[in-house]
Amino acid sequence: MERNQVRMMSNSPLVVYTKLSPNHSGPRKHVIDTITIHCVAGNASIESLGNWFAQSSVQASSNYGVDSKGRIGLFVDEANRSWCSSSSANDNRAITIEVSNTAGAPDWPVSSEAMAAVIDLCTDICKRNNIKQLLWLADNTLIGRVDLQNMTAHRWFAPKACPGSYLYNRFGDIAKKVTMRLKGEVKMTEELKEQIRAICQEEIAAALQKRNPMYADYADVPIYWQPMVKELLDRDILNGGTPREISATDVNLTQDTIKACVLMKLYIDQKLNTPHFGPAYQDDDEEKTLSGLLTDD
Ligand SMILES: [Zn+2]
Repeated sequence: MERNQVRMMSNSPLVVYTKLSPNHSGPRKHVIDTITIHCVAGNASIESLGNWFAQSSVQASSNYGVDSKGRIGLFVDEANRSWCSSSSANDNRAITIEVSNTAGAPDWPVSSEAMAAVIDLCTDICKRNNIKQLLWLADNTLIGRVDLQNMTAHRWFAPKACPGSYLYNRFGDIAKKVTMRLKGEVKMTEELKEQIRAICQEEIAAALQKRNPMYADYADVPIYWQPMVKELLDRDILNGGTPREISATDVNLTQDTIKACVLMKLYIDQKLNTPHFGPAYQDDDEEKTLSGLLTDD
């Protein structure tokens, strides 16, 4: 491992208690690319665990500990190799985490607070050590194949129950949740917001146009409405927003609006008993013209 990699290493900001243990081998000989979660086999607070590992006679340690209240302790700096997994190769590359248990064998369950803290801690470890995803296949033939599996279990290296069936059966769930968090965090920048806004506007406009199309010109109007729309345009009842001297065929109305105009015209035509196109409104009574009805009544 490069020297500067060692110097760049840090510990988790989630730590609330630190008691550094003398039980470690100094700087790691491998980059951190693995996480090994253990069970304490007891319900120890992080202080008790720290005091236990502080004794050199114990000849054991872990990088972190998580107690049943979900509190996280640091016992061996991440930069150093802990004495935790009965495997030098594993402990040189793995961050080791001891988790307290709320009951004993054979399950060795842990509290929901501890479980939540383990997921937080693993996510933080992955982020700071540039581990893109946490993977678990429960397959000890894949040890070291961190592209396929970067969690390991103590029971693979020694005849032990560790981490207990409760945690072992949940390694897949832990890996999935941590990976979801690692991948789900998209940094929301102003530029990204603007892109999302533009896409939304485009999509909404397209959806509206599809549902209720805008007819810009008379020629765009469906052929079955054209005679009626033409008459409304000719009589200056419809006007697409352009003076008729400039464009007499501007419509600029949506399908819904044109439908309403056509219905209104058909209704009035029926009331006046005149056909809805052709030489209409030849009535002597000036008041009975379509425009008269629309404006006066
Ligand atoms: Zn263990």
